[in-house]
Amino acid sequence: MSLRELVVLGTASQAPTRERNHNGYLLRWDGEGFLFDPGEGTQRQMVHAGVSAGDITRICVTHFHGDHCLGVPGVVQRLSLDRVAHPVVAHYPASGAGFFARLRRGSAFHETADLREEPVSADGVVATGLFGTLRARRLEHPVEAFGYRLEEPDGRRMLPDRLAAEGIAGPDVGRLQREGRIEVDGRVVALDDVSEVRHGQRFAFVMDTRLCPAVHDLAHEADLLVIESTFLDADADLASAYGHLTAGQAGRVATEAGVRRLVLTHFSQRYEHPEAFGTEAARWFGGEVVVATDLLRVPVPRR
Ligand SMILES: [Zn+2]
Repeated sequence: MSLRELVVLGTASQAPTRERNHNGYLLRWDGEGFLFDPGEGTQRQMVHAGVSAGDITRICVTHFHGDHCLGVPGVVQRLSLDRVAHPVVAHYPASGAGFFARLRRGSAFHETADLREEPVSADGVVATGLFGTLRARRLEHPVEAFGYRLEEPDGRRMLPDRLAAEGIAGPDVGRLQREGRIEVDGRVVALDDVSEVRHGQRFAFVMDTRLCPAVHDLAHEADLLVIESTFLDADADLASAYGHLTAGQAGRVATEAGVRRLVLTHFSQRYEHPEAFGTEAARWFGGEVVVATDLLRVPVPRR
């Protein structure tokens, strides 16, 4: 079975704490590894989490504040050190290309890795592949920031009882899936007769932003939403002043967008115990709330 899970490498905004590293998230998605927002210390957290440089196929940076990108130099150099043979694609806001150039070549190293830069300059499709479609939407933050959304195309789920009723088994099942219809004992059976739509999985990654329509668009019916909740509602004035979300806002977004599993992260250092974030989000959101901790693994809910 294919593996789809989020590996949390860090959960701290701005400044790391004793318990929380700077941001960093690896989404394992079948054979792909999307590394989102590698903050400082990401390389070491990867070691703790059992993530190797070879697991990374894409690096997606939302914006160029340090807690989201200071890990780029270490990760990029590690790709070469470990002789990662496959290409790795890096996405980041095009307006920050100068920052990425400096992070990429921040110190001397022997570069062997094939790192390809595909900056994001507008809303829309960033990449397509066997993984599905990766999209970006511009968020609202003091520096240009993009959120990301990964969508698997819808597929079809075969219904065993219907197959049995039609007398279809063995290699005929594969032939029906390939050809769309087959003849059984003189009758034509269509794929739709013995299967149903299986909605593709959707993953959304929403980092630093104030509440805006893009947050809802990114989160729409996501199976797994990873969203910043820097502040608690009591500090909503700080959240709006600095362009961030509160846990209550994150919970409301999750409900309104029809999210299945909500992962809260990017906590301000002012809060020692992040459990309150879960409580606050759960006031609005009836689905599963995960308060992220470093090195936690969160499965993408199955369809
Ligand atoms: Zn941040």
